[in-house]
Formats: sequence, structure tokens, C-alpha cells
Amino acid sequence: MLNLFEIDEWKIIENKFDPNKQEQAESIFSIGNGSFGQRANFEEDYSGKSLRGSYVGGVYYPDKTRVGWWKNGYPEYFAKVLNSCNWIGIRIEVDGESIDLAKVEIKSFYRELDMYHGTLTRKLKCRLQNGKELEISSIRFCSMDNEEIAAIKYSVTPTNFSGNVKFTVYLDGNVYNADSNYDDFFWLEDTERVGVRKGVVSARTKKTNFLVGTAMRFSFWENAKTLDIHPNINQKKLYVDNNFEQYLEKGNTYTIKKYVSITSTINHSEFNTVAAAINNVTSAYLAGFDQLLESHSKKWEEIWKNADIIIEGDTSAQQAIRFNIFQLFQTYTGKNPKLNIGPKGFTGEKYGGATYWDTEAYCIPFFLKTAPQSVSRQLLKYRYNQLDKAIENAEKLGFKDGAALYPMVTMNGEECHNEWEITFEEIHRNGAIAFAIYNYVRHTGDWDYVQKYGIHVVTAIARFWSQRMNWSNEKSQYVILGVTGPNEYENNVNNNWYTNYIAKWCLSYALKLHDKYTSEKNALSEEECITWKHQIEHIHLPKIKDSNIFLQQEGFLDKGLQPASQIPSNERPINQHWSWDRILRSPFIKQADVLQGIYLFEEHFSMKQIEENFNYYEPMTVHESSLSPCIHSIIAAKIKQNEKAYELYLRTSRLDLDDYNREVAEGLHITSMAGTWMSIVEGMAGTRVYDDVLTFDPIIPLQWKKYSFQIFFMQQPIKICIDTKSFVCENLGNKSIKIRIDNDLVDLKSGQEFSFTLKK
Ligand code: BGC
Repeated sequence: MLNLFEIDEWKIIENKFDPNKQEQAESIFSIGNGSFGQRANFEEDYSGKSLRGSYVGGVYYPDKTRVGWWKNGYPEYFAKVLNSCNWIGIRIEVDGESIDLAKVEIKSFYRELDMYHGTLTRKLKCRLQNGKELEISSIRFCSMDNEEIAAIKYSVTPTNFSGNVKFTVYLDGNVYNADSNYDDFFWLEDTERVGVRKGVVSARTKKTNFLVGTAMRFSFWENAKTLDIHPNINQKKLYVDNNFEQYLEKGNTYTIKKYVSITSTINHSEFNTVAAAINNVTSAYLAGFDQLLESHSKKWEEIWKNADIIIEGDTSAQQAIRFNIFQLFQTYTGKNPKLNIGPKGFTGEKYGGATYWDTEAYCIPFFLKTAPQSVSRQLLKYRYNQLDKAIENAEKLGFKDGAALYPMVTMNGEECHNEWEITFEEIHRNGAIAFAIYNYVRHTGDWDYVQKYGIHVVTAIARFWSQRMNWSNEKSQYVILGVTGPNEYENNVNNNWYTNYIAKWCLSYALKLHDKYTSEKNALSEEECITWKHQIEHIHLPKIKDSNIFLQQEGFLDKGLQPASQIPSNERPINQHWSWDRILRSPFIKQADVLQGIYLFEEHFSMKQIEENFNYYEPMTVHESSLSPCIHSIIAAKIKQNEKAYELYLRTSRLDLDDYNREVAEGLHITSMAGTWMSIVEGMAGTRVYDDVLTFDPIIPLQWKKYSFQIFFMQQPIKICIDTKSFVCENLGNKSIKIRIDNDLVDLKSGQEFSFTLKK
């Protein structure tokens, strides 16, 4: 696989402009701050192929469901993340010719995403049709220090002429979504106001009535001194600008420092949203670009202190893991209880910016170990806050007595996924939400959360599972019929092993929690307890006879089983080449299914069982979900198939950077990036938590000399360092923790280090 961009430990670098890569670059060089995000579109005009994207967290449009044949129970809408006001716009015109990188001659081009400082930089030299040459450089960021602020420093230097240049600094809310079911325009005009070197545009979303305010201010500089300019001010529907002609001296540098604030009714009242944007942008303007940048970069430094993974001896792997970590923190910071993590974060429109099971199954393990406890607690709380909606959602499908079915896709707790085989059938997502609570507690010891909130979620989920299964007289067992497992290349199957297993686990976890805490609010009836116990003991878990292999679903063995290596390479990915019908009949697996269960409940199985299931299913897996290679990499490391683990690690970590699935132009795979991180920390280092003990089972890929990282366990920062000979663990916290490696169980006190010699 060829690298799309240059390899560097802390940066993503593009040295030459290639219009064919522009949409891929727009995704990869995206910036964000957990509250809003911006694709790496150019500030100036660009008429080439591009996906413009400025996204504001939590703001969505309920796009009317579009299906051929309506089925009862369908959600009315599919939520769409909204492409909102273009705040980066700066147009440059020389003698009537606009600088447009699709049209001018580009003499040199450099674009850089600096992940350590969280900035996007661009430097270029271009020649216009009339022979005039300019150098342009820009740097921008979305502040991690103040999540309603962004800033751009944009400089122009005429290199072979002195003369007039026209600058237009603007905000443009006339933005359409590329992804829209009926090509509707999703915004309503609210206000436009413009003054000298400032302006504001606010707009409301149709139907959902979110108000988004975008305010700007800017200053204009000649080299290091500000110039007093007298711009024309201009406003029209959803648009404001300041434009001015300036005589530029050859060799001098002219700079626009543009400050932007983006606010919405997610965080502000109706009345205050626009005023807050104006106030924020004024403070930002007064603070100045350098100070804003400094406080923004400091926040990144703090994040890296906790979350960085250092890999020595493999720059490509190093760049990749940092890219994944960087993008995750750009997407979610845990500051806002109303926000969650869309599979594409703020880098594209696909998946509607909505919440999927990805959050619990992938992102929570990441944030649990790399961020303060409050961040994962916030993610759990998000689901707790939507519990009533999950109960309503289950009621719509005929469930009762407080059973909850969390949506497959949601913005506000309502289901908004439109494919019946997913909406109605991909119910395993409910299990991941309960599992996340269990996982959170074993990492943090925060039982207070469970007692106050978690137990209600787990109980409601358990009620759903209990009602969703039925007794089969034929089998004398409980069965779960008509489901889609994590492998979405099989629909409407009976007794998907993963779904049945997690259902059984949820029921027993709920009973355990009830033994520990019972309050009137969540008390189970005696009948419920009896039924659940019976269900736990008698649920059907399909298996291949006389073997250790769990059966993905009933009927799987009737398929023409063959390895994915038999698929001609020009037919991969199969979802872009085969009919859906052919995919459904084939044995090929989109993503970990049985293996997802083995991953979650590893301690329930013997090494032999794990190994045999991996060797059986992995060869049939096409990994066409970005969530797939990481789980397989972790299991491969567990069973010491080190090369396989590394191969799959590279596939997950560079999935977007090298565009493995040929779709990065649409946006990044943010949630699977957490899986990449898991493949190092859980995979290579074998980090687990069993019975309040942090355990390790490390391997090191041949290509690496050493790797190290820090994780939180019971709120204590723990540093791990692994090289080809040794494993070293240091407790940087102030309380002791228990760790285990091999047969050594150690009580690691504050400040203590423990070393272990790795076996050859
Ligand atoms: C995967 C799902 C996942 C979704 C969003 C799909 O391709 O099959 O498991 O939730 O993408 O990432």
C-alpha cells in the first residue's frame, strides 16, 4: 500500500499539490476541538473537486426517511450532521482574477498537520495568468482551550510585483449538505450583521430549530504592523463580508488574522447564542492570535502527556498511532454532556454525526485509559440521559415493563437508522452499552455511578433481552430469532452466537448488580429473577458439533465456506463489487462477530478455544468495516500470532492515512481509531483488568525496538515501557495499584517501578 502523504513522527505532510488527492487531504488534515470541526478546505476560492465541511457538534437535521416500502416501526427520519456556515473564507483577487488553486499555476505547495500543537499550516507559491506571483501561507486551529473559538492567520506576499490586491473576508451560511435525502436546504435565515472588520451570521435548522451563531473579527497587518483599513461592508442572506483593495509592496507580507466564534443552542439559550458568539470573538480578538495559539497548544501538550504512545524504530507506525489519538481528541473532549462521537467525527457527513455502538465498544476503552475518568463517565451518562427514549423505542416495537432498546443510530435518544435489518435487528448494540458500564467500573472503581445511574440502564437492557428471547420447544432452549450480528453481511439470522452470548451476560450482570444494590426504583420482581436465571441457564449458544468453534449463527455451515483469499482482488472490497444478495449468501464476514464476543469475554474461554475460533473465522473475514482489523489484531497478539497482529495493526492504524478502503474522501473513521489504540495497548501490551488487577501479557513486533505509553487505572497514571527484552511499569500516581505479569502479582506503590524480563 502506497503512502498518500509523507511519513513523519508528529506531522502529516503533503509536499506537492495533487488535485486528485484534494478530497482525501481535506479529510486527513481536518481539525476540530470536540465542539466543532473543519475539513481542510482552502480559505480561498477553489473550483476543483472538494467536499466542503464545517460541522457543529450536536446540531442536526431530521431528514425524512427515504425507503421504497414503509414498514411499521421505521423511524421518521435519519439525522444528518449539518454542514454549517463556512467560517474560513478569505478570497484574494488580483486584477479581477481570483486565486483558485484549481486554476492558477502552483509553483510549490506544502501542507502540514502538526499533531503536537494541533495546527493546520499551508505554504504555497503561485503564478497567476497575468504572470504575477504570490506566496501564501496560512495557519489555523480550532481552540482546545475555548471550544467556541477558531483562528486563522493568512498571509500574502507579492514576490514579483507591487500592486493592488483585493481581499474579501467573509462568513457564508449558504451551505448545502452533500448528503441529503431530498436535496433540501437545511437552514433558515436568522440574522446577519456586519461592521468594519467584523460580522455575524446566524441560522436556524429547519424542523429541529437549533440556532447557530458564527461571528468573526479580523485585523490586517503589513509585516509586523497593523494597517488601518476601510473595508466595504456587505451583507446578504446568510452572508456577510468585508472587502477592500490594498496596494501591496513587492516582498512585503500582508496578513489577515481572522478570529471566529461558533455558538449554538446546544450550549446557550435562544436569547444568548448570537450575543455569546459576538462576545467570544471580541475577547479572542483582544487576546490576539499568538496568545490563543499558545493556550490551545498547551491543552494539546497536556493531552499528549497522558495519551501519547511512543514507538521506536518504526516511524510509519508512530505517525499512524499519533494520528489516531489526535483525531479522537479532536472529536471528543468530554466537556459537553450533550455530545457524543460520530463514526466520522467532524470530518465528513456520512453516518450523520450520530452516536453508534462504536462509542461503547471502541471509544470508551480508549478514553478510559487516556483521559480523566470524567470523560468516560460523561459518555456513559449520555446513554443514561436517553434511557426514557430507549424505553419508548422498545415500546414502539412491542416491548413493555421498562424494557429498553437503545437505538443503533441516534442524536437525541430516538432511533434514526432506516434499514430494517439494522434498526430492528442489530440489537446486539444494547449489550455493548451494558458492557461499557461494567468496563468503566472495573477501570475506575466508580460504583457510585453504577448505583445512581448504571443499574437503571443495565436493568432496562436486561428486561429487553429477557422479552426478546423465546422458548423453543424443539430445542428446549431459549432462542433469539431474526437478528443481525456485528457482521452486517448476514441479516435476519437466528441465534447469532454473539448476540445470544451478550444477552446472557447482560442478564447475569443485571442480577449481580441487583444483589449488590436494590432500591425501590429498580427492584426486580421475583418472577423476573426466576425467569432471568432460567434464561441464563438455558439460552441456545450454537456450536459446531464436537469442536471448540462457536457457530456465528444457525445455518452458517450450509454456506459454501471458503477463505476470503479466494476472492479475486479486483472484486474487493466486495461491498463495492457484489450485489447485496450475493454478499448475504456468501460466507464472508464483514467484521468480528464470534470474535467480537471472544474479545469482550476473553476470560471465559481457554486459549485453545480462542485460537481455534480465530483460525476458523479470521480467514473468512474481509474486514470491510473499519472496526474489524483492530479486534483481530488484539486476538492475534493474545494467541501470539505476532506477525498477523502486526499486519492487522498496520491495516487499522493506517486505514485512513493510506486510504485502504478507498473512501477516506468521505471522512475519517474516527471510532475505529480507538480500535487502533486498543491494538497496541490491549493487543501488543496485552493490558487487561481482571479482578481489580491490571494485567499485562506483552509482545513486541519485530519491526519495533521499543514502545511506551501511559494509562489511567483507578485514577492513577501508570507508565508502561516495553522493549525486546523487558517490560517496565511505573506508578506515577499517589496510590498503590495491583499489577500482574505472568505469575508475578505486585503491589505497585506510588513512584515505584517494576521490571520484568520477557521470555524469548
Ligand atoms: C459497521 C457497524 C458500525 C458502523 C459505524 C458499519 O459499517 O458495520 O458496526 O457501527 O459502521 O461505524
